Amino acid sequence: MIRFEHVTKRYADGTTAVDDLSFEVAEGELVTLVGPSGCGKTTTMKMVNRLIEPTEGRIFVDGRDIAEVDPVKLRRSIGYVIQQVGLFPHKTVLDNTATVPHLLGTGRAGARARAAELLELVGLDPSVYGDRYPDQLSGGQRQRVGVARALAADPPVLLMDEPFGAVDPVVREHLQNEFLKLQSQVRKTILFVTHDIEEAVRLGDRIAVYGDGRIEQFDAPATVLGAPATDYVADFVGADRGLKRLSVTPVEEGDLEQPPVLRLDDPLPRSLDARWAVVLDAEGGLHGWISAGQARGTGTVRDRARRMDARLPVGASLKQAFSTMLQHDAGWVAVVDPEAEDRFLGVLTPARLHTALRRSIDADAQDVARADVRLESVTKD
Ligand code: ADP
Ligand code: MG
Repeated sequence: MIRFEHVTKRYADGTTAVDDLSFEVAEGELVTLVGPSGCGKTTTMKMVNRLIEPTEGRIFVDGRDIAEVDPVKLRRSIGYVIQQVGLFPHKTVLDNTATVPHLLGTGRAGARARAAELLELVGLDPSVYGDRYPDQLSGGQRQRVGVARALAADPPVLLMDEPFGAVDPVVREHLQNEFLKLQSQVRKTILFVTHDIEEAVRLGDRIAVYGDGRIEQFDAPATVLGAPATDYVADFVGADRGLKRLSVTPVEEGDLEQPPVLRLDDPLPRSLDARWAVVLDAEGGLHGWISAGQARGTGTVRDRARRMDARLPVGASLKQAFSTMLQHDAGWVAVVDPEAEDRFLGVLTPARLHTALRRSIDADAQDVARADVRLESVTKD
């Protein structure tokens, strides 16, 4: 969908911002460009919508050499979100979002209806926020409007330049999660610039790690973390790689421990051959737990069970599991199946979490070995 062929950008003062860059982004793929300040990320981005012209090389979007596409037309097919959102201060949120569809010839009513849909999509209730002005929003809400506006023309391609850079870390994580959910619905082809490796890892299908004007590694997040291509990348990825892996390793069903399970309406068992049991309600949803000491005597499980609500969907990251544990001050989290009305699947304990982390690291090591073999067999042919 986006292809760079030997692209170089030298500014008038002789600075080489981007040096012989070649890479490709597939349709529907989210690629994060990550690297320290001044390494050429913004320059890369702005060449895609022709805000900056390359000195050498060619860029293709959807199969067409963009040098031959009218820049105004080109920009209509490319949404652009930046840190300083650039909303019109004198227009309401709804009008800000409706501007582009309106410019593209949608009637006023149609454009406003579309804008309301988009605000809904980014988690802003249009009946609450539609009539506000940008200065009546929090930083995080302004960023959402920025995203809604960029999606307004339904462009196949989105460029996002540190869109969440100015919001505080808690809001940022929230926006990132919502953005991932949004992307799973709209499936745009996205170039996303960030200087934060954590953000790059969480969001990217693949990551391009920039050194000075060059891509040092272009790979899936787990590969970048697990098998950095150069010392530079290893350094950039950081010493706490194990911790960062937590955020790219999903909880799988096979990782879970299976404690005994009791229902609220069950009579108390005679004994429990475990230290505790999980307690589910009549629908099979998580209610809490009961200790072996409590699970005796007369009456039903309901009388003695304690509430516990540390749960997360299967497929969530180990990092989320870890933080849910800490948040609930719990020694385990229940893992549920969001596809089946949160059916209880098992529990993740710190020990299982560690095993899952090892699994992820080992799997990666094997991938590297396989890649080497493939390379060898190619040269022999
Ligand atoms: P990043 O977005 O990764 O921080 P940029 O792409 O903005 O980096 O900049 C890459 C390099 O190009 C930097 O050294 C920067 O100072 C330089 N640069 C950016 N814009 C210009 C310009 N208009 N004229 C000269 N040098 C520039
Ligand atoms: Mg920049």
